[in-house]
Amino acid sequence: MEFKPLTLLSSAASLLFSFPCPACGESQVECSNALCPKCREELKLFRPPWCPGCGATLDNALELCSSCLREDPRPWQGAVALFPHRDLGRSLIHRFKYRDTPEIARTLGWLGAEALAERGLRFDCIIPVPLHWTRKWLRGFNQTELFCRRLSVETGIPVWHGLRRVRRTRQQARLTREQRRKNLLAAFSLKGENFYLNGNILLVDDVMTTGATLSAATEVLRSAGKGNVYIMVPARR
Ligand SMILES: [Zn+2]
Ligand SMILES: [Zn+2]
Repeated sequence: MEFKPLTLLSSAASLLFSFPCPACGESQVECSNALCPKCREELKLFRPPWCPGCGATLDNALELCSSCLREDPRPWQGAVALFPHRDLGRSLIHRFKYRDTPEIARTLGWLGAEALAERGLRFDCIIPVPLHWTRKWLRGFNQTELFCRRLSVETGIPVWHGLRRVRRTRQQARLTREQRRKNLLAAFSLKGENFYLNGNILLVDDVMTTGATLSAATEVLRSAGKGNVYIMVPARR
Protein backbone atom coordinates (compact mmCIF):
# COMPACT_ATOMS: atom_id res chain seq x y z
CA MET A 1 0.00 0.00 0.00
CA GLU A 2 1.23 3.43 -0.88
CA PHE A 3 2.07 5.60 2.08
CA LYS A 4 0.42 9.00 1.97
CA PRO A 5 1.77 11.15 4.78
CA LEU A 6 -0.34 14.16 3.85
CA THR A 7 -3.58 12.22 3.89
CA LEU A 8 -2.62 10.73 7.23
CA LEU A 9 -1.80 14.16 8.58
CA SER A 10 -5.05 15.67 7.44
CA SER A 11 -7.09 12.82 8.86
CA ALA A 12 -5.22 13.17 12.15
CA ALA A 13 -5.99 16.90 12.09
CA SER A 14 -9.66 16.31 11.37
CA LEU A 15 -9.82 13.89 14.30
CA LEU A 16 -8.19 16.46 16.57
CA PHE A 17 -10.34 19.33 15.40
CA SER A 18 -13.68 17.66 15.06
CA PHE A 19 -16.57 17.49 17.46
CA PRO A 20 -19.70 15.38 17.71
CA CYS A 21 -22.69 17.06 16.08
CA PRO A 22 -24.69 18.70 18.94
CA ALA A 23 -27.98 17.36 17.58
CA CYS A 24 -27.31 13.70 16.72
CA GLY A 25 -24.02 13.16 18.56
CA GLU A 26 -22.96 10.78 15.79
CA SER A 27 -21.50 12.67 12.84
CA GLN A 28 -18.38 14.74 13.38
CA VAL A 29 -18.38 18.47 12.65
CA GLU A 30 -15.43 20.83 12.30
CA CYS A 31 -16.87 23.56 14.48
CA SER A 32 -18.40 22.69 17.85
CA ASN A 33 -21.39 24.98 17.19
CA ALA A 34 -22.35 23.68 13.78
CA LEU A 35 -24.78 20.92 12.89
CA CYS A 36 -23.83 18.04 10.62
CA PRO A 37 -25.27 18.28 7.07
CA LYS A 38 -27.82 15.54 7.78
CA CYS A 39 -29.23 17.34 10.86
CA ARG A 40 -29.22 20.67 9.02
CA GLU A 41 -31.30 19.04 6.32
CA GLU A 42 -33.69 17.52 8.88
CA LEU A 43 -34.15 20.83 10.65
CA LYS A 44 -35.77 22.31 7.51
CA LEU A 45 -34.47 25.86 8.04
CA PHE A 46 -36.94 28.42 6.68
CA ARG A 47 -36.11 29.41 3.12
CA PRO A 48 -37.21 32.66 1.42
CA PRO A 49 -39.67 34.17 0.73
CA TRP A 50 -40.20 34.73 4.47
CA CYS A 51 -43.43 35.84 6.13
CA PRO A 52 -42.84 39.26 7.77
CA GLY A 53 -45.36 38.31 10.48
CA CYS A 54 -43.54 35.25 11.82
CA GLY A 55 -40.40 34.56 9.80
CA ALA A 56 -41.58 31.21 8.42
CA THR A 57 -41.54 30.45 4.73
CA LEU A 58 -44.59 32.06 3.08
CA ASP A 59 -47.12 29.39 2.18
CA ASN A 60 -49.22 31.54 -0.18
CA ALA A 61 -48.90 34.48 -2.57
CA LEU A 62 -50.26 36.97 -0.01
CA GLU A 63 -48.43 39.39 2.25
CA LEU A 64 -48.62 37.14 5.33
CA CYS A 65 -48.61 33.37 5.80
CA SER A 66 -51.92 31.62 6.43
CA SER A 67 -51.40 31.31 10.21
CA CYS A 68 -50.41 34.99 10.62
CA LEU A 69 -53.54 35.97 8.68
CA ARG A 70 -55.62 34.37 11.45
CA GLU A 71 -53.95 36.47 14.18
CA ASP A 72 -54.25 40.14 15.20
CA PRO A 73 -52.08 42.52 13.15
CA ARG A 74 -48.42 42.22 14.18
CA PRO A 75 -47.04 45.29 15.97
CA TRP A 76 -43.46 44.57 14.81
CA GLN A 77 -41.67 45.58 11.60
CA GLY A 78 -40.36 42.18 10.70
CA ALA A 79 -39.70 38.68 12.00
CA VAL A 80 -36.94 36.10 11.85
CA ALA A 81 -37.55 32.45 12.66
CA LEU A 82 -35.08 29.64 12.11
CA PHE A 83 -37.03 26.39 11.75
CA PRO A 84 -40.45 24.82 12.30
CA HIS A 85 -41.25 23.48 15.77
CA ARG A 86 -41.54 19.83 14.75
CA ASP A 87 -39.37 16.75 14.32
CA LEU A 88 -35.71 17.59 14.99
CA GLY A 89 -36.56 21.27 15.63
CA ARG A 90 -39.01 20.27 18.33
CA SER A 91 -36.60 17.93 20.07
CA LEU A 92 -33.78 20.52 19.96
CA ILE A 93 -36.07 23.12 21.57
CA HIS A 94 -37.15 20.60 24.16
CA ARG A 95 -33.56 19.85 25.15
CA PHE A 96 -32.79 23.56 25.16
CA LYS A 97 -35.79 24.47 27.29
CA TYR A 98 -35.95 21.78 29.91
CA ARG A 99 -32.37 20.73 30.37
CA ASP A 100 -29.36 22.92 30.85
CA THR A 101 -27.69 22.09 27.54
CA PRO A 102 -25.24 24.86 26.65
CA GLU A 103 -24.23 23.16 23.38
CA ILE A 104 -27.76 23.61 22.03
CA ALA A 105 -27.72 27.32 22.94
CA ARG A 106 -24.40 27.64 21.07
CA THR A 107 -25.79 25.96 17.99
CA LEU A 108 -28.94 28.08 18.04
CA GLY A 109 -26.83 31.24 18.45
CA TRP A 110 -24.74 30.21 15.48
CA LEU A 111 -27.83 29.52 13.33
CA GLY A 112 -29.36 32.80 14.49
CA ALA A 113 -26.30 34.81 13.45
CA GLU A 114 -26.31 33.03 10.09
CA ALA A 115 -29.99 33.90 9.59
CA LEU A 116 -29.42 37.61 10.35
CA ALA A 117 -26.49 37.72 7.92
CA GLU A 118 -28.49 35.92 5.23
CA ARG A 119 -31.31 38.45 5.59
CA GLY A 120 -28.91 41.43 5.74
CA LEU A 121 -30.27 42.54 9.13
CA ARG A 122 -28.38 44.51 11.75
CA PHE A 123 -29.59 45.68 15.17
CA ASP A 124 -28.49 47.99 17.97
CA CYS A 125 -29.51 45.58 20.70
CA ILE A 126 -30.98 42.19 21.47
CA ILE A 127 -33.72 42.03 24.11
CA PRO A 128 -34.75 38.67 25.58
CA VAL A 129 -38.39 38.18 26.53
CA PRO A 130 -38.00 37.74 30.29
CA LEU A 131 -39.46 34.97 32.41
CA HIS A 132 -41.12 35.87 35.67
CA TRP A 133 -38.46 35.50 38.39
CA THR A 134 -40.34 32.66 40.09
CA ARG A 135 -40.33 30.66 36.88
CA LYS A 136 -36.67 31.40 36.23
CA TRP A 137 -35.87 30.40 39.79
CA LEU A 138 -37.76 27.12 39.47
CA ARG A 139 -36.12 26.28 36.17
CA GLY A 140 -32.69 27.56 37.16
CA PHE A 141 -32.13 29.51 33.94
CA ASN A 142 -33.94 31.42 31.20
CA GLN A 143 -33.27 29.60 27.93
CA THR A 144 -34.09 32.74 25.90
CA GLU A 145 -31.33 34.63 27.72
CA LEU A 146 -28.85 31.85 26.92
CA PHE A 147 -29.80 32.05 23.24
CA CYS A 148 -29.45 35.86 23.27
CA ARG A 149 -26.02 35.65 24.87
CA ARG A 150 -24.79 33.25 22.19
CA LEU A 151 -26.35 35.36 19.44
CA SER A 152 -24.52 38.34 20.89
CA VAL A 153 -21.19 36.46 20.92
CA GLU A 154 -21.67 35.51 17.26
CA THR A 155 -22.86 38.92 16.02
CA GLY A 156 -21.29 41.47 18.39
CA ILE A 157 -24.73 43.01 19.04
CA PRO A 158 -25.16 43.76 22.77
CA VAL A 159 -27.87 42.14 24.88
CA TRP A 160 -30.02 44.66 26.72
CA HIS A 161 -32.24 43.42 29.55
CA GLY A 162 -34.72 46.18 28.90
CA LEU A 163 -37.88 44.35 29.91
CA ARG A 164 -39.07 42.92 33.19
CA ARG A 165 -41.83 40.40 33.77
CA VAL A 166 -43.87 41.96 36.54
CA ARG A 167 -46.68 39.46 36.63
CA ARG A 168 -46.98 35.78 36.09
CA THR A 169 -49.42 35.01 33.34
CA ARG A 170 -51.58 32.07 34.33
CA GLN A 171 -53.64 29.85 32.08
CA GLN A 172 -55.58 32.18 29.88
CA ALA A 173 -57.74 29.68 28.05
CA ARG A 174 -61.04 30.95 29.43
CA LEU A 175 -60.37 34.62 28.70
CA THR A 176 -61.45 36.48 25.57
CA ARG A 177 -58.77 37.56 23.12
CA GLU A 178 -58.98 41.17 24.35
CA GLN A 179 -58.76 40.16 28.04
CA ARG A 180 -55.78 37.99 27.21
CA ARG A 181 -54.08 40.88 25.43
CA LYS A 182 -54.61 43.24 28.40
CA ASN A 183 -53.35 40.57 30.78
CA LEU A 184 -50.16 40.09 28.79
CA LEU A 185 -49.58 43.83 28.35
CA ALA A 186 -49.68 44.26 32.12
CA ALA A 187 -47.16 41.43 32.51
CA PHE A 188 -44.23 43.48 31.14
CA SER A 189 -42.61 46.71 32.21
CA LEU A 190 -39.52 48.59 31.10
CA LYS A 191 -36.43 48.26 33.21
CA GLY A 192 -33.51 50.56 33.89
CA GLU A 193 -32.02 53.05 31.45
CA ASN A 194 -33.74 53.07 28.09
CA PHE A 195 -30.68 53.47 25.88
CA TYR A 196 -31.96 51.68 22.82
CA LEU A 197 -35.66 52.50 22.75
CA ASN A 198 -35.28 54.68 19.66
CA GLY A 199 -32.95 52.30 17.85
CA ASN A 200 -33.26 49.02 15.98
CA ILE A 201 -34.36 46.42 18.48
CA LEU A 202 -34.33 42.65 18.09
CA LEU A 203 -36.82 41.17 20.56
CA VAL A 204 -36.19 37.48 21.14
CA ASP A 205 -38.26 34.56 22.46
CA ASP A 206 -37.70 30.81 22.24
CA VAL A 207 -40.82 29.63 20.43
CA MET A 208 -43.63 31.51 18.72
CA THR A 209 -47.12 30.05 18.70
CA THR A 210 -49.75 32.78 18.27
CA GLY A 211 -47.28 35.60 18.90
CA ALA A 212 -49.38 37.07 21.74
CA THR A 213 -46.49 37.29 24.21
CA LEU A 214 -44.17 38.88 21.65
CA SER A 215 -46.95 41.31 20.65
CA ALA A 216 -47.39 42.49 24.23
CA ALA A 217 -43.63 42.91 24.75
CA THR A 218 -43.35 44.81 21.44
CA GLU A 219 -46.20 47.13 22.38
CA VAL A 220 -44.53 47.95 25.70
CA LEU A 221 -41.26 48.79 23.89
CA ARG A 222 -42.98 50.83 21.21
CA SER A 223 -45.14 52.78 23.64
CA ALA A 224 -41.95 54.14 25.21
CA GLY A 225 -39.81 54.90 22.16
CA LYS A 226 -39.69 55.41 18.44
CA GLY A 227 -37.56 52.36 17.74
CA ASN A 228 -38.01 49.68 15.11
CA VAL A 229 -38.81 46.32 16.61
CA TYR A 230 -38.08 43.05 14.87
CA ILE A 231 -38.76 39.76 16.57
CA MET A 232 -36.75 36.57 16.45
CA VAL A 233 -37.45 33.01 17.56
CA PRO A 234 -35.53 29.82 16.91
CA ALA A 235 -38.74 27.85 16.39
CA ARG A 236 -42.11 28.70 14.87
CA ARG A 237 -44.99 26.42 15.90
ZN1 LIG B 1 -26.07 15.63 13.33
ZN1 LIG C 1 -46.41 34.18 9.28
